[in-house]
Amino acid sequence: MERFFTVRSVDLFEKLAFSTWQRIFYAKKYKIPQGEETITDLNLLEIAMAKCSEVQVIKTDKYKEKTQGTDWEWWIGNNRIGYLRYAVQAKKIHQDFLNYKTLKHKVGSEQQIDILERYARNNRAIPLYCFYNYSEYTRPILSRYWHCNSPLESEQLGCTITPLRNVQEALQERGRKKFDFLHKLHDTKPWRCLVYCPSLLQVYKSGTSINTSWGFGNVEVYPRLPRELSEAIDFSLNTDERTVESGLFEVQFDNFSNDFYSEIYPKRILVANYLGENI
Ligand SMILES: [Zn+2]
Repeated sequence: MERFFTVRSVDLFEKLAFSTWQRIFYAKKYKIPQGEETITDLNLLEIAMAKCSEVQVIKTDKYKEKTQGTDWEWWIGNNRIGYLRYAVQAKKIHQDFLNYKTLKHKVGSEQQIDILERYARNNRAIPLYCFYNYSEYTRPILSRYWHCNSPLESEQLGCTITPLRNVQEALQERGRKKFDFLHKLHDTKPWRCLVYCPSLLQVYKSGTSINTSWGFGNVEVYPRLPRELSEAIDFSLNTDERTVESGLFEVQFDNFSNDFYSEIYPKRILVANYLGENI
């Protein structure tokens, strides 16, 4: 039985980035292609198996793909500094061309990116893209794409995040849907930075990303999680035994307050502890 606090959120995020990097490498080597959804599913399974009290994933029962367009919603923070809420769309790198072929994906008659933007605006969430990557670049080249204050760890580029507006910029011209273009931008960072890097503290404190290295839009700091989410998480933590039942569970949205969701719901919700104020 795992104990509480044995796995920190950053440890799990780093482990997932590492295994994503490796998986895409081996997928090419052994010619067993791994799609975006497969990688997301494997990461979800890893989170469930980790039974980490600092990272929980909640599957929702009201997801409608046609009108929705967001893979994930992330709530990252804690009760001391509040939570940042992110609307997230995942994209996997195309191994041969080091680009993201489906960035211009349409859902019905609407661009997926427009749906993500609208969802983020309506739900007061920061819109992000999350990239699943592998590249054969050498360390010196990869260091050009490393925008974290911690030392370069190539495999941590396995899962990166960037604000939606960078993807909008990439879509404006041919030849920009590439790893190179999107990862040269200083606010494309390893995803573990969202739970770990102290540079985010200013965003939590000031409620804006202005004058920070984070190019977030729609910043709003929520003092606490929606009650329905925190109750669901409390229920999953068996506090008597000081163990975590599972890192993944389902929640019913029928009683959710309209303060948090209006009409549209994400497919899944991740809740993770932000560590940056303690390191
Ligand atoms: Zn960082």
